[in-house]
Amino acid sequence: MQKTKTKTRVFSGVQPTGNLHLGNYLGAIVRFVELQRTHDCIYCVVDLHAITVPMSVCGGPTELRRNTREVTAAFIAAGIDPKKHIVFNQSQVSGHAELAWIFNCVARVGWLSRMTQFKEKAGKDRENASVGLYDYPVLMAADILLYHATHVPVGEDQKQHLELSRDIAQKFNNDFGDSIRGHGFNDGLFFPQPEPLITGPATRVMSLRDGTKKMSKSDSSDNSRINLIDDADTIAQKIRKAKTDPEPLPSEEKGLTPRPEADNLVGIYAALQGVSKAEVLGQFGGGQFSTFKTALVDVAVAKLGPIGAEMKKLVQDPVYINSILADGSQRAQAIAAETMKAVKDIVGFVRA
Ligand code: ATP
Ligand code: MG
Repeated sequence: MQKTKTKTRVFSGVQPTGNLHLGNYLGAIVRFVELQRTHDCIYCVVDLHAITVPMSVCGGPTELRRNTREVTAAFIAAGIDPKKHIVFNQSQVSGHAELAWIFNCVARVGWLSRMTQFKEKAGKDRENASVGLYDYPVLMAADILLYHATHVPVGEDQKQHLELSRDIAQKFNNDFGDSIRGHGFNDGLFFPQPEPLITGPATRVMSLRDGTKKMSKSDSSDNSRINLIDDADTIAQKIRKAKTDPEPLPSEEKGLTPRPEADNLVGIYAALQGVSKAEVLGQFGGGQFSTFKTALVDVAVAKLGPIGAEMKKLVQDPVYINSILADGSQRAQAIAAETMKAVKDIVGFVRA
């Protein structure tokens, strides 16, 4: 364990809760790939998070295994290098759950009760939500801080959870300040303040059925999202069916403000092409949605088609995927073990 300031490290996770979609790709995975050039990266399939929702949503044990391999396949198909960086599944490194327990005793109930994701996911039947769903952001703080990660690429929906991770890091550093310094961490800052990286034109891709709702794996309507494994016909069908309004596309970006569905489709096109929304409107402004949608289908199929095909190939070889996760878990465990030893000393747990 370095006793000076931590170097930069990227950590992020994706839940194996169902079909990976365009939002996961544009909001998170595209950034994961880019960051490999400049940082040491750890990308985690967060299976412990996946079981916070009912089995009817996460699918039960067989689905969980299948989805875990599918998310791993998506990482690799999108261009993540599991040799140069670390790709693993969360449950193979026990430090995540262990550190989450310690953080449960640092975080405050009041902090968690403000989390909007819990409110949205628990819905009206809050009494019946799992304790794990309520505690989700604490486990997420443990995921990040177990590796002293400094940068966390996520979609916009995770901003509030990142703020909570920062609060937990700061409170741990404060609560145990003397002990931290006593163990040789002279600046008293054991955990860094992880920074969210929420960048790009599509940090919040919305549902194709409702422009006010985030595109989500757990949305019961498959037509609400474009899955990475959808074939060309399905992508075309979903885009053609996507909700729009009767007006032609505006020529200026401010014309998108009161039109969430149009804004979303223009944002998706811009993100897939790597151009700005203004440029997209320069080309399609004043025209009908049908023309724009045809162009969007072409761009989406060209970008996602090869990734989906590679994913399908990779999941045919579960032994290979398992070996990647085992290797990544071993390397993650080596880092996590150092953190947990230091945390136990700082908190005052006797260890051999
Ligand atoms: P679930 O509905 O099960 O929560 P999800 O679609 O939100 O699934 P997660 O595994 O929770 O997927 O999130 C993985 C990453 O994808 C996170 O960084 C999250 O912020 C990002 N993300 C999820 N949905 C979107 C979206 N619609 N637009 C942009 N980024 C997204
Ligand atoms: Mg989510």
